[in-house]
Amino acid sequence: MKVLNLQCAHGHGFEGWFASNGDFDTQLAGGLVACPMCGDTAITKLLTAPRLNLGNAKPPAEATAPAAPDAHTDSPEARWMRAVREVMDKTEDVGTRFADEARKMHYGEAEERGIRGQATREEARDLAEEGISVFSLALPPALKETLQ
Ligand SMILES: [Zn+2]
Repeated sequence: MKVLNLQCAHGHGFEGWFASNGDFDTQLAGGLVACPMCGDTAITKLLTAPRLNLGNAKPPAEATAPAAPDAHTDSPEARWMRAVREVMDKTEDVGTRFADEARKMHYGEAEERGIRGQATREEARDLAEEGISVFSLALPPALKETLQ
């Protein structure tokens, strides 16, 4: 069981749960690892060393989605919030049924769609071991409150 820190080409950071490093490599090669915020499959694995300076060699490319015109609030925080809200718009909140729903989709018992919800670490681990990708986003506290 591996929890990997991942980042897409647009600089969105997220955690991915995989059965193993090999499982991650296989899913990555198959284009199955996609950024939960923008769907980008150019995913890189971040080293977990906390003091590693990843730098800003390349500025995050603008997402292909039409850029919102609210440039005056275009701080990194605002962009992050916007990306998170976009994910929330595109996904169905299944709450604590997350693990059940993810499994049903994986086995073709439910329609494939974007879902979000809460899963315990045990549930996430079980899903990863069954080859089901689970991504976790650190939501800004302000959004977390509205999620409940
Ligand atoms: Zn992304």
